[in-house]
Amino acid sequence: MSQLNETALGEQLIAFRHELHRFPELSNQEFETTARLRQQLEQHQIRIVDLPLKTGLVAEVGPAQGPLIVLRSDIDALPIEEQSDVAFRSERPGVMHACGHDFHASAALGAAILLKQQEATLPGRVRILFQAAEETGQGAPDVIATGALQEAVAIFGIHNDPSLPPGVVGSKAGALTAAVDRFDIRITGTGSHAAKPHQGNDPIVIAAQIVSAAQTLISRNAPSADNAVVSITQLHSGSTWNVIPDSAWLEGTVRTFSQSTRERLEQRFREIVLGLGAAFAAEVEFNWHAGPPAVVNDAHWADFALQQATASGLEARVVEASPIGEDFAFYQQQLPGAFVMIGTGEPFALHHPAFRINDAVLLPTSRYLAQLAVAALRSLERA
Ligand SMILES: [Zn+2]
Ligand SMILES: [Zn+2]
Repeated sequence: MSQLNETALGEQLIAFRHELHRFPELSNQEFETTARLRQQLEQHQIRIVDLPLKTGLVAEVGPAQGPLIVLRSDIDALPIEEQSDVAFRSERPGVMHACGHDFHASAALGAAILLKQQEATLPGRVRILFQAAEETGQGAPDVIATGALQEAVAIFGIHNDPSLPPGVVGSKAGALTAAVDRFDIRITGTGSHAAKPHQGNDPIVIAAQIVSAAQTLISRNAPSADNAVVSITQLHSGSTWNVIPDSAWLEGTVRTFSQSTRERLEQRFREIVLGLGAAFAAEVEFNWHAGPPAVVNDAHWADFALQQATASGLEARVVEASPIGEDFAFYQQQLPGAFVMIGTGEPFALHHPAFRINDAVLLPTSRYLAQLAVAALRSLERA
């Protein structure tokens, strides 16, 4: 195969990224995105691993046997109406690539193409995941269930970071993103006339007690170094001024960086909520919906990923953990790996309707990913 000129590859990747951006698809509905990726991979004679995935796909480069390194990207978009002024704005009302997964998928495609060019000399295999449904936290468990990672030695994932300067690669050993859990609380009491509250047990007063008590969850149950967060984001009750309602409903999220704090907060929150229900003689239900655990980077591979950033001409930086969620964490429960942030230096945060990507970072990210995979395979050879 003729070596593809890098400038031409960079332009092709940008054009491909813009195409994905124009036609975003929500989690688990990425049928056209998957077809577009498949077509690109086939065009470059890159083999696609036969796996029972509804959307998303897995490519592989390298010899039939040998150690296996995995590079992971994601491909889904968000239910957001785009407000950016780019020429390739979303053509799907209410759907937008506002987390830059179009960038991740294109960068991973570029890495696959660059790896294909050196396939004959690769000391092992590289699997490139184009994962569906990251935003719902279900995509990674679906990939794991196919057995795609069974032989893999290590996994690397990327996410763009508008707050880092363009081309800066940020990571750290240990927790990088938070476990993202959701809770909801339903209070069922007895309503009454607003003038005769003694005839009921006001669920609004109980909800207020729960909101106040929740503020002690972190301050009195989590070690100060753990940086946990509890936020109550919805509280609904009542419908008019002179009736005390018979129910209230609250919802919110808990973000934690360590498994022990995560378990402790769930347990204490449940005890506090149910205890307040008993204290005020109302029926209270506490539901905990576990999301992805924290991304916890393997110390060796996080350090390795930062070293390879420097080796591929990018600036490496040790960054602080962030209380966002990432379903990459599920992979790290199966095998060691590192998640890295790629700076884009853009003004709007992830999930913002005016979110943008810096296209100049695309080809360097592909080069970095390819370099990282090859170096990881070589390091295994030496080990
Ligand atoms: Zn996102
Ligand atoms: Zn994302």
